[in-house]
Amino acid sequence: MANSKYEYVKRFEVEDEVMYPNIIVVQIAGRNFHRFSEEHGFEKPNDEKALNLMNASATKVLENFSDVVFGYGFSDEYSFVLKKETTFYQRRASKILSIIVSFFTSAYATKWKEFFPLKELNLSPSFRSRIICCASMEVLQAYLAWRQSECHLNNQYNTCLWKLIFSGTSEKEAKEILKGTQKQEKNELLFRQFGINYKDLPQILRQGSCAVKIKVEDIVKYRENGAPVKRPRKKAVIVHSENIATKGFWNNYSCLTE
Ligand code: ATP
Ligand code: ATP
Ligand code: MG
Ligand code: MG
Ligand code: MG
Repeated sequence: MANSKYEYVKRFEVEDEVMYPNIIVVQIAGRNFHRFSEEHGFEKPNDEKALNLMNASATKVLENFSDVVFGYGFSDEYSFVLKKETTFYQRRASKILSIIVSFFTSAYATKWKEFFPLKELNLSPSFRSRIICCASMEVLQAYLAWRQSECHLNNQYNTCLWKLIFSGTSEKEAKEILKGTQKQEKNELLFRQFGINYKDLPQILRQGSCAVKIKVEDIVKYRENGAPVKRPRKKAVIVHSENIATKGFWNNYSCLTE
């Protein structure tokens, strides 16, 4: 199109560069996963295979895009943090979010069989996305703390809801019982009625999952004398942590600050 009579059409495009030094976060969230999870018979309240599929897709995002340095997710959502100095697609919001969300979605679909070998993927999964523009590290940490507290609230509520439903309470009644209850009351309900100590639930449910990059060394070949030839590489792995917005956590993972 360069130098053609249509060149002027370019001006109709929306300017959406996220200015440095803002940190770019891409948040993606499953669309209509209530239906999607029902259609595919996800275990309630939490199907761990489905969470592992989300995590595996997120890991692929980190491995495929060197500028994505961190991911945090739970339920049907994931947030991806780009390194502060990124120049990926000239920092244009629409380009970045469309690439990340479509890559994640196709990874989710292609990895489906690995996690659900006996279930057909009957519905095409879709995710929507948005850019969160964090003006400083502190804002980024506040954002992550917020998402992790949502994970906790979401999981605690769903654990109570489904325990009540499985014990014969109707969904409507169960929602009525939980309406307006505080964290402490929900923990007590779980303990008194079902003998569950909320703190004993797996970390992946209570704390969500983090995708981080760590440095590893691959053995690429062996010399004649048997000595291995190693090559350093960054690998994406999933970790769980209680409070992902603390300095203590960030100091453990140089990918967040370098
Ligand atoms: P929207 O399109 O507005 O996001 P939604 O149907 O995706 O609507 P959410 O509020 O995002 O609704 O909630 C996600 C839904 O997906 C919940 O109903 C939740 O129970 C279900 N879900 C997501 N992940 C899992 C999982 N690992 N196991 C069981 N259910 C899940
Ligand atoms: P960018 O990431 O900037 O879009 P690109 O590699 O996708 O780069 P495009 O300018 O979008 O480059 O061009 C699309 C490329 O895909 C071309 O090389 C084209 O030959 C190839 N391609 C697309 N559709 C087909 C098709 N149906 N058959 C063969 N080649 C195709
Ligand atoms: Mg959703
Ligand atoms: Mg959601
Ligand atoms: Mg192209």
